[in-house]
Amino acid sequence: KSKQAPRPALPDLLPDVKNIVAVASGKGGVGKSTVCTNLAIALAQKGYKVGLLDADIFGPSVPRMLGVEDVPVYTEKMEGRDLIVPVENYGVKMLSIGFFVKKEDAVVWRGAMASNALKQLITDADWGELDYFLIDFPPGTSDIHLTLVQTVPITGAVIVSTPQEVALADARKGISMFTGEKVNVPILGLVENMAWFTPAELPENKYYIFGKDGCKQLAEQNGYALLGQIPIVQSIREGGDDGQPVALQSDSITGMAFARLADNVV
Ligand code: ADP
Repeated sequence: KSKQAPRPALPDLLPDVKNIVAVASGKGGVGKSTVCTNLAIALAQKGYKVGLLDADIFGPSVPRMLGVEDVPVYTEKMEGRDLIVPVENYGVKMLSIGFFVKKEDAVVWRGAMASNALKQLITDADWGELDYFLIDFPPGTSDIHLTLVQTVPITGAVIVSTPQEVALADARKGISMFTGEKVNVPILGLVENMAWFTPAELPENKYYIFGKDGCKQLAEQNGYALLGQIPIVQSIREGGDDGQPVALQSDSITGMAFARLADNVV
């Protein structure tokens, strides 16, 4: 719907992958990894083949959320090449930059080092055939992001934000990183996370802790889709901490919210 110039052609890094979806936020702490992990599981539950690359070099949290924090990663020889074997849980194949670097080291990485490491996790791993390959981007808009966007043939980007103005301001910057003239990655839509809170004892009430409909308005103003509004729910936080994301409970109210989000991304 938005007016964007055609994209420059990129080398086909993952010929057996149908869709590469960037999940980005701009601001950190808005729930990007939570949304990305639950979206991956919801897509897998619908029968799609799903891969997830945790590219958040500053705080890789997907291994914990997927319950595979301490799983050893190994390589296998395939057609004369050593390929990293993604870890699989809940139907999602996953590699995290956190498997390969210590957090303390990553913060002093130069852009090129991080970019090269991430590219290796994409091209030197046995991802196999996938319908959806989600990339959990690091927060911010650095040269690491630009390199990823300029070298990986991303099908589209999902932008996660809270309705809060400071988060939306960063989300706008995140959007322009994808829509910039030289990259032109389509924006699949926005996800409003932490959209409201409903206390158990007052199930009819919605409290708009971070503001109301901020993402919805940003989406409407720019002609982007609002892919979903996810409330603040204790089980979302707990599911992430325990390595059992709520999307696994696809018949719970919160699980269904992620299932609908997956439907809107497909
Ligand atoms: P980011 O990837 O943007 O840095 P995270 O996904 O790590 O953010 O989320 C930050 C914190 O907020 C985590 O503790 C997570 O469990 C929690 N969280 C995220 N989304 C929700 C939500 N909708 N309801 C409750 N807690 C959430």
